Parts: sequence; structure tokens; C-alpha cells
Amino acid sequence: MDKILAFFRSLLYRFRVWLTRFMTGRHGVDELCVFTLMSGILISFIGSLFGFFLPILIGYAAEIYTLFRIFSKNLPKRQEENRKYLKWSANVRFQIKAFFTRQKMRKEYKYFRCPGCKSLMRLHRGRGEVEMDCPKCHTHFKKKA
Ligand SMILES: [Zn+2]
Repeated sequence: MDKILAFFRSLLYRFRVWLTRFMTGRHGVDELCVFTLMSGILISFIGSLFGFFLPILIGYAAEIYTLFRIFSKNLPKRQEENRKYLKWSANVRFQIKAFFTRQKMRKEYKYFRCPGCKSLMRLHRGRGEVEMDCPKCHTHFKKKA
């Protein structure tokens, strides 16, 4: 038993050494990789669920593109792609993060939108009725929290 375990341990160790050597000078995983892989899996899953061929193909293409980027040795180009992706998705990622923050803070704050410009505002719960002045459009309104 110990011999078998030792064998697998040395195999794992050798695999790690090989992988480290193999990945040296290659791009590896970044945010864009995670995005293309996840959307690839999702698209191909939906495609196979409904039996559509094109989404499956697109999903596989996204997965292959992900592998290509991970193993690519053209680092400046891959980093530039990731930088563009981060810039492009910044707003969406911010909105998602803000949504989860709001969910977490819901017990403490009441969230609502300004009736004038629809921008999001919050009030500490238990403050009673408060006279509001929107910092963006200066609409006056009363809000209970
Ligand atoms: Zn406003």
C-alpha cells in the first residue's frame, strides 16, 4: 500500500515539475480565460439541452480559444486582450459587485431610486421620514426608512 502511494506521489510530483516547465513563458489563466471558458460551457450546454448544433459549435470554439490563450507564448498580445476585456466589462462587473453588496447591506439600509433621475440612493433604516435632496438632479422628495 505504501509503495503504491509513494508511486502516485512521485508521479504527481513529476507531473507538477513537467507542468511548471511546460507553462514557463506561457500566458496561463487570466480574467478573459475565465469569461470565455464559462460562457463557452454555458453556450454549449444550452445548445445541447435544446439540440441546436450552432451553439454547441460556438461553445466549443470558445473553449478551444481559451486553451489557445492559456498556452500562448505571445504574452504582450494576450495581456492586451485581457486589458481590453477588463475595460469593456468594468461596468458590468461593477454592477454585479454592487448588487451583491446591496443584498448584504439590505438589513441596514433601505435602497431606492430618485424619482427625478432614477439614480440609486440609500438611507439608514429606522431614521423615519427624511427630506431628500438628490445630489445629482436636486429633486426634493420625502422618503421613509
Ligand atoms: Zn436625482
